[in-house]
Amino acid sequence: MAAPTVLEIALPTPLRRRFDYLPPEGVDTTLLKPGQRVRVPFGNQRLIGLILRVKSESSLPLQNLRPAEALLDTKPLLPDDLWRLCLWAADYYQHPIGDALHTALPVLLRQGEPDREKGEPYWQLTTEGKGLPEGALKRAPRQAELLAALQQRGALNRADLAALGIARSHVKTLEDKGLVFSREQVLTPSPEPNILRDTPLTLSDEQAAALAQIPEDGFHISLLDGTTGSGKTEIYLQAIARTLSQGRQALVLVPEIGLTPQTLARFQRRFAQPVVALHSGMNDRERLDAWLQARDGRARIVIGTRSAIFTPMADLGILIVDEEHDSSFKQQDGFRYSARDLAALRAHRLNIPLILGSATPSLESLHNARTGRYHYLRLTHRAGNARAPELLTQDIRRQPLDEGFSRDTLERIRTTLDAGNQVLVFLNRRGYAPTLECPDCGWLAECRHCDTRLTLHQTPRHLHCHHCDHQRAVPRACPSCKSTRLQPLGQGTERSEEALQRHFPDTRVLRVDRDSTRQKNAFRDLVEEVHRGDPCILVGTQMLAKGHHFADVTLVVILDSDAGLFSTDFRGPERMGQLLLQVAGRAGRADKPGQVIIQTHHAEHPLVRTLLERGYHAFAELILSERRLTGLPPFRHMALIRAESKRPENAVAFLKQVRALAEQRHPPGHELGYLGPLPAMLEKRGDRFRYQLQVNAANRGALQKLLSQLAPEMEQHALAKRNRWSIDVDPQDMG
Ligand SMILES: [Zn+2]
Ligand SMILES: [Zn+2]
Ligand SMILES: [Zn+2]
Repeated sequence: MAAPTVLEIALPTPLRRRFDYLPPEGVDTTLLKPGQRVRVPFGNQRLIGLILRVKSESSLPLQNLRPAEALLDTKPLLPDDLWRLCLWAADYYQHPIGDALHTALPVLLRQGEPDREKGEPYWQLTTEGKGLPEGALKRAPRQAELLAALQQRGALNRADLAALGIARSHVKTLEDKGLVFSREQVLTPSPEPNILRDTPLTLSDEQAAALAQIPEDGFHISLLDGTTGSGKTEIYLQAIARTLSQGRQALVLVPEIGLTPQTLARFQRRFAQPVVALHSGMNDRERLDAWLQARDGRARIVIGTRSAIFTPMADLGILIVDEEHDSSFKQQDGFRYSARDLAALRAHRLNIPLILGSATPSLESLHNARTGRYHYLRLTHRAGNARAPELLTQDIRRQPLDEGFSRDTLERIRTTLDAGNQVLVFLNRRGYAPTLECPDCGWLAECRHCDTRLTLHQTPRHLHCHHCDHQRAVPRACPSCKSTRLQPLGQGTERSEEALQRHFPDTRVLRVDRDSTRQKNAFRDLVEEVHRGDPCILVGTQMLAKGHHFADVTLVVILDSDAGLFSTDFRGPERMGQLLLQVAGRAGRADKPGQVIIQTHHAEHPLVRTLLERGYHAFAELILSERRLTGLPPFRHMALIRAESKRPENAVAFLKQVRALAEQRHPPGHELGYLGPLPAMLEKRGDRFRYQLQVNAANRGALQKLLSQLAPEMEQHALAKRNRWSIDVDPQDMG
């Protein structure tokens, strides 16, 4: 008797297990391959899973295995390199394989949709329809007309039907009678012979030297470190052109906020070849179609946000990650992968170049460049004659402030507007004020579900928790002492907008934050208005800091630069420096020199001084030397094991047990160190108490080995059920 065939299947469940099934009945078992989808019974539901292995035995008795119901694919869904990348990532990030694979697939494929593009429907006659004698449908003249047209032309599509004035209901009637059937056809445009639509810009010497160092093929990672406006994008475009002319494809990853219609338009203007985008604004069908076009090679350039790293490409020849320092490349929940780090692995396995670009590279990447793992390419000149903006700190410790603005700042805003230029005011807090305060008894509006204060919003007026979304009415009187003198405490964007409008009543003040841009196209409309160039003041959050170029802004005011300096997250200062320079980069981009005013309470802080006086690289060096001393990434590797529960003691007890298990496996020392359980930065959120255990390691191998042993033990642990828990490898956010 032949050996039995057993399918090992990854199912989208939170369990780390793989599931064994028998093949679907009647399916030729030689057709079964890893990477194909199957529909299987699971409890009393039906799930779509992926075949991980086709094997000849199971650890369970064969009679206990259920057969899969159907095989959905004739071929594996993903090309082999991507399939293996997904398996590796699930393993490395300690995420259940079924859920990881599902995260990597477009929604419609997870739901069992065929991996085919939705084509244009067309209609033909069945054999019966063809054999119908003339005049058979005399009593239904429209149906007869349709029949005649089909007999004459063979097939009709939607446009043909519309031209003939035949309603779909008539088609449907003939379909029901079995005389007509429909098919779908994907219209494939013939390949475009030209690579370029538009002539490339002439490169500066510095740009040309950088491009020359990026090889056309072979594994190679370049860190392209270039100040804002130094022309990194032009280097991407010309490197992509070389790749396309070899007949290969390009994949470009951009931060969530960076995939603007402007970005896409720039690529489409340059290239005659098909460019597709993958982003959250697309519906499921559009996403799947773009994904399929990339897989079958018709899309030549794919631009997408984080999850686009899992796009299958027929023949990928170059990978680019723009703004590589951006934290949106790391997924913060579920499958916590880093698209940037996976890009490096994908490039390595495909033996192709990767370009990581940024004006403020992450410390990890700078470290990799210093140690020679990445090739370091630097662009220091701004394109054209544009000069770098002048950075000025303003010590606001002893200055009277008017709604957060110093007198000098207001003066400079006035001068800028009078000269016909635009002003950008940056404040990373939306709402009217960070909270509401009672001056009589000191009461503060706090969220009853989180360890945090409620933000006061004015339009419409309410209190809002930005962590759990809890909202409530603004009380008329202090809940604690009944005083009616409640007042806003601190500054948010709404309040700054109001203050600026009061100071400059004849100037347009435009607020840009998540609240003001909620409506479709609102952000685009705001950006268009600014681009018209009339004097105006833009006030907003980090939505203003990224991607958009405002050529007429000559003054940038940073109202609160201090928050990151004293953050308990070790990445706080790095993030602060990056954000500050990204915002500063908005000023003076064209031929107009810009000025940046940084209002700070800590003008003497060594990090602030280093950043402003000696620049980002000296600042990065300073932080790196501190990280080396304190044993933090990139000098040591880290994983966070998080647990949260409605009762804090559950989370603490669970993590203590996890630490004990870990120490049994690997005693603390230089190779592996443990810290915690400690409360998270926001200890209570949405009524859950949050704790974390930090594991740090001298090398990735030791960390991986420990985590792979711990994860299944944690899953089985009795206390696990009382917690929500997760493992975050290479965490970007320590909260
Ligand atoms: Zn009070
Ligand atoms: Zn809010
Ligand atoms: Zn809350």
